[in-house]
Amino acid sequence: MSRYRFCPKCGKRADDKKDALYCGKCGFILYKNPIPAVLAVIYNDKGEVLLGKRSVEPVGKWAIIGGFLEAGELPDVGLRQEVKEELGAEIEIGEMLEMRIDNYVFDPEAGKSVLVISYLSKLKNDFETKDENSELKWFSEHAVPWNEIASEVHKEILKEFFEKLSRMSSRAPAILPERGDLTKTSKIASPPMATRNDKKEVFYKFCPKCGGDLDNLKCQNCGFVFYQNSRPTAGIVILNDKNQVLLMKRAADSRIGKWSLPGGFLENFETPEEAVLRETKEEIDVEVQIENFLLFSISKYIYEGGGYVLPIHFRGRIKSGEPKPTKFASEVRWFDRKDIPWDDIAFESNKKALKKVFEK
Ligand SMILES: [Zn+2]
Ligand SMILES: [Zn+2]
Repeated sequence: MSRYRFCPKCGKRADDKKDALYCGKCGFILYKNPIPAVLAVIYNDKGEVLLGKRSVEPVGKWAIIGGFLEAGELPDVGLRQEVKEELGAEIEIGEMLEMRIDNYVFDPEAGKSVLVISYLSKLKNDFETKDENSELKWFSEHAVPWNEIASEVHKEILKEFFEKLSRMSSRAPAILPERGDLTKTSKIASPPMATRNDKKEVFYKFCPKCGGDLDNLKCQNCGFVFYQNSRPTAGIVILNDKNQVLLMKRAADSRIGKWSLPGGFLENFETPEEAVLRETKEEIDVEVQIENFLLFSISKYIYEGGGYVLPIHFRGRIKSGEPKPTKFASEVRWFDRKDIPWDDIAFESNKKALKKVFEK
């Protein structure tokens, strides 16, 4: 295995830098960003959690059920699909746990990270052992094989789950209220979503490792499979005491002159919350306090290459500083709900987040 050295668009030699692969020939930039993955922390009425002993990498380790999100897939949609493929079962999805960053173990040389999105879940019907696991088993907190868990991040998620469980009533744990309305987000997702049975949408023609031809993502020369994922972005709806929202007039990157929420792409190994703190500082020069998660959405990536973006939105307030114009924002202004310039909002996902804040 080698690092990425070739432009996936034109097949010429490209420059592998820390943040991206730069092509000097056609100008294409392949950013390194956290790859979104989803996990279902499936638990039963006894407070035990379901783990799978993996028959694929990392073989023999116990892991939480789940997998990578496909390009254009919302987390709840992808999670149901993953569980169905891995267990042959349906789940009810509950509260979302902390979003975390993990290492990309499948292709370490690519220098990428994984954005792990996990949910408390309960089974609706029986499961069966399928290809991905050699064994499936329920574990109480004390029985969890902590030294044989697939990754540190899986351990952290399990610890967060058992902590939550201990704070719930002594009665059988119920599904907690949802953080963000998953049913609604799936309904309002804008473009038609790629389903797993469709032929994959292909945005690249060449293998980034050897420059060989890709056929439906697989390199005909070295066999490498170049999976395409959505690129996560993070943004925030900032409110003040008058219940006004803060918008910035865009002065850089794209959609210049349109209004948007502060936000942007996640850097490699960066959580969505960290991205929001960094972006608000850069774009409008304030420090924000994130209060809660709002929603996930899916957008078509409008720039070179095509593909999908997974926007992640939060709601919050200003912690310190006075919002001011920067090289990214020519104007920063508070808007009453009735004055929001809906026709001049740069991104559909921003509109969804704004609507979500004013629901109820
Ligand atoms: Zn190129
Ligand atoms: Zn190749």
